[in-house]
Amino acid sequence: MVQISEVKDSGAGTQGSTRTAAHTHIKGLGLDSQGVAKAVEGGFVGQIEAREACGVIVDLIKVKKMSGKAILLAGGPSTGKTALALAISQELGPKVPFCPVVGSELYSVEVKKTEALMENFRRAIGLRIKETKEVYEGEVTELAPQAAENPLGGYGKTIAHVIVGLKSAKGTKTLRLDPTVYESIERENVSVGDVVYIEANTGAVKRVGRSDAYATEFDLEAEEYVPLPKGEVHKKKEIVQDVTLHDLDVANARPQGGQDVVSMMGQLMKPKKTEITEKLRHEVNRVVAKYIDQGVAELIPGVLFIDEVNMLDIEIFTYLNRALESSIAPVVVLASNRGMTTVRGTDDVVSPHGVPPDLIDRLLIVRTLPYSKEEIRTIIERRSLVENLKCEATALDLLADMGTATSLRYALQLLSPSGIIAKTAGRSEITSGDVNEAKLLFLDAKRSTQILQTSDNYL
Ligand code: ATP
Repeated sequence: MVQISEVKDSGAGTQGSTRTAAHTHIKGLGLDSQGVAKAVEGGFVGQIEAREACGVIVDLIKVKKMSGKAILLAGGPSTGKTALALAISQELGPKVPFCPVVGSELYSVEVKKTEALMENFRRAIGLRIKETKEVYEGEVTELAPQAAENPLGGYGKTIAHVIVGLKSAKGTKTLRLDPTVYESIERENVSVGDVVYIEANTGAVKRVGRSDAYATEFDLEAEEYVPLPKGEVHKKKEIVQDVTLHDLDVANARPQGGQDVVSMMGQLMKPKKTEITEKLRHEVNRVVAKYIDQGVAELIPGVLFIDEVNMLDIEIFTYLNRALESSIAPVVVLASNRGMTTVRGTDDVVSPHGVPPDLIDRLLIVRTLPYSKEEIRTIIERRSLVENLKCEATALDLLADMGTATSLRYALQLLSPSGIIAKTAGRSEITSGDVNEAKLLFLDAKRSTQILQTSDNYL
């Protein structure tokens, strides 16, 4: 337990001294209250039927009619399968975990495939913990690490304690904090004028934002300013923390790295565990169940997205089938761009998407269709807005042509380099010349393959 003591006013303390991911433009399925998709909405462009089908699936999930079932998104590369799975998680509510994996990622020398799958299952299951904690909250008016006294006289470099002055609308307090707290002050980059809260029993410092009293005309946009807390500096506050079951597994396997929530759970476990075992998961589940019973925690099942599902083998499918039956399973969304394929690990079971028949029976299958050139153009345009890049109309046309000829992903990937080329030339708008230059620098899959086929040596 960290020591925090309030420094009674001596006069001295009163003077002032947490992949850009490719899908950030996706904000949901973009459906109206009737479940109808508008052509361009929620960051989505087109793919109307798939979006509407996913909307129905969201409704089924909400009324708990999806247990034991999974979803399969079937369609060509870059047709928005990952984006749709992400949007499903967004439609389920804020802070719903989304865990994307590619089938082949489950296979490694170090970790058993079933272990890897279980780990990802647990990454996709969230836990929302609500706790009422005692906190000190206010604007930092003083931040003074006090050096420890050196036995030989003078001052050494170690910190004995940290004095923090805090001010709210109704009062001020000066706190004397444990030296260990200094780490969290540094991590959160706290300085005078910041609004923070400090947990009474852990000493963890959380920076909420900058006090609006410090807002200036120049940096108003750069920082988030928050009003001075209205109440007393010292108060009880409801703190909501979102973690995944995997976070809890990790924290309990390596207790010293514990964040806070996790310390609550950690106290109940034996220390010095170094590896996530089934026993440990069991124990975490037991404690989680207890907290759920007590109303302290709520389970938030998220979305586990497994791309290239044909990469999975029969053993892992068996395991997956079982895992879907669990009472705390996330929503499992599989994706495939294959047709009839032999199921890996079997000699002769040929099945749609390489998924064995017993799992196929449990799937709701949604098809994604290729985009028109116009749709590709709009997607690129939307994406450029998110990336803060301006494109001339001719540049957008060229990117749309390239997206149609190669892939949407390739065209999207050319945006950033084209932006850099334009900026280097001192232009604020991307021209078709910049796009052509970026195209010469970065090959698409087809051209790369052509070079390999026509020359012995890639270099
Ligand atoms: P793959 O099978 O190759 O993994 P995918 O079908 O999962 O591809 P995504 O990764 O979802 O495709 O899409 C590629 C890019 O295009 C992403 O940046 C995605 O956000 C964007 N995108 C795809 N479809 C749409 C759409 N209808 N509207 C807006 N953006 C889209």
